[in-house]
Amino acid sequence: MQKDPDYYIQGVLDANRLMLSRTITLVESSLPAHQELAATIIERLLPHSGNSVRLGITGVPGAGKSTFIDSFGTLLTELGHRVAVLAIDPSSSRSGGSVLGDKTRMIQLAASEKAFIRPSPTGGTLGGVARKTRESMLVCEAAGFDVIIIETVGVGQSETAVASMVDFFLVLMIAGAGDELQGIKKGILEVADAIVINKADGDNVQRAELARRQYETALHLLTPDNPLWSPPVLTCSALEASGLLDIWQTVTKHRRIMTDSGDLTRRRARQSVDWLHHLLSEGLRSWFYNHPAVRDYLPNLLRDVEKQSLSPAAAASMLLQKIYR
Ligand code: GDP
Repeated sequence: MQKDPDYYIQGVLDANRLMLSRTITLVESSLPAHQELAATIIERLLPHSGNSVRLGITGVPGAGKSTFIDSFGTLLTELGHRVAVLAIDPSSSRSGGSVLGDKTRMIQLAASEKAFIRPSPTGGTLGGVARKTRESMLVCEAAGFDVIIIETVGVGQSETAVASMVDFFLVLMIAGAGDELQGIKKGILEVADAIVINKADGDNVQRAELARRQYETALHLLTPDNPLWSPPVLTCSALEASGLLDIWQTVTKHRRIMTDSGDLTRRRARQSVDWLHHLLSEGLRSWFYNHPAVRDYLPNLLRDVEKQSLSPAAAASMLLQKIYR
């Protein structure tokens, strides 16, 4: 393996796809030597990053995310954009295989010279996967990709992780029987910048339109009035590639408004600060649980708390005092 950071940095800046892949592999590696090299590379690529539309997409399995990204990404490449697709998929550690990020799901887009699709890192904690995706995003930006799509399954907490690293968060839905809001958490709608009802084709057009109106009402009730942006609800058919241009125009309109008002800069600044706090608490947590005093005393304290012979508060304070000393 090459140890010279310039080797990777130059390759990425030259938009060399092989070097881009290698650099992301390095970013994803958990070997300390790789992490150190990756940190140097990221630091030096940082001034070249940031110039993209960062677009997050979530939706329950089967909503049509892969089909959508395939069609939507292809449209963007036809409009002259360079599109990178990354995925956050911590669930793959459980299922044993990646359900996201698989190139074969986006055949049309994968064939484009202007697209880069990166399979999701398999396994690891949400924080770990999110970190790698976040850093991979910066590398893709430095390589000149001007639209970065970050995909996640709308279950668990990964969508919150995605929402916290993008400029525009799109929730993909389908018209379903019964409660239209089922399967998607209220909190997700609150952070959505737009909702898109997919599969508005064939017999489903009317149902999709009905769902669109229902979501519009729900959003109106859920989200606070923002003078700058009310998240719209749109319909599309990823399969027939219809309604996609409208969605892109919505994204660019949002971009324009947020840039002009300074909200984009503020949003990204807030995200960076949140990320710093996240990394700090993650680091502290790992330092804490690996601390010799914690390793020595925690098992006994756990047992006492379990037996109800010690209160959780007393146990926590005893352990923390051992560390402070
Ligand atoms: P994901 O799990 O969210 O990535 O969903 P997929 O993209 O794999 O799509 C799930 C299923 O829905 C597949 O059988 C797709 O062919 C189908 N599908 C996706 N988009 C559309 C659409 O716009 N219209 C119709 N009719 N089917 C779609």
